[in-house]
Amino acid sequence: MTGRTHDTAAFTALAIAVAVTPLPQNITLATVLVAILANQIGGIAPDIDQPTAPFWRNLPIGKLFGRFTDRLLGGHRFLTHSLLGAALLAWLAHWLLVFIHPLMPHVDIDLVWKAFLIGVVSHLVMDTFTKEGVPWLLPIPLKFGFPPLKSLRIATGKFVENFIIFPGLILVNIFVCAQHYQAIVTFIHTRIRS
Ligand SMILES: [Zn+2]
Repeated sequence: MTGRTHDTAAFTALAIAVAVTPLPQNITLATVLVAILANQIGGIAPDIDQPTAPFWRNLPIGKLFGRFTDRLLGGHRFLTHSLLGAALLAWLAHWLLVFIHPLMPHVDIDLVWKAFLIGVVSHLVMDTFTKEGVPWLLPIPLKFGFPPLKSLRIATGKFVENFIIFPGLILVNIFVCAQHYQAIVTFIHTRIRS
């Protein structure tokens, strides 16, 4: 799937998670902003194994570095597209957050870490609906997809993704926000602090 769909899916998953879990009594605005950013990075992070990934495309030496990570991680849809890879990304993100926490003491890194993980898992779930499938259980080298019949799955960047999946995700976001509108307004007014 394209980076745009993955980022929208990551945000949708975050919105649903926020809607179904009890909200914290107090949260800083910095935490909210950093958590959304981490969620968006998590949403595209598994594609670091792809030289043309949005993750690398925007960096000056990105293409070269992307090719290097491509070799290192076993090619596209390999290590980073598995539970093992997700655990590895989670560990790396945690380590990085602990390391940079002194620079942003008002940020609750636990919530940021969870938002990142939601992004990563949403990526794997979304890629499961594509023709290529996802090797969820690496090192068992089997790719899983849904529906099991490959011809019924989605082709990346084509009609179904652009005109059904992507707008569908936007609609889910609107629906979640509309359903929880009053709770969101109350939360913003009473629990977010600077
Ligand atoms: Zn992917």
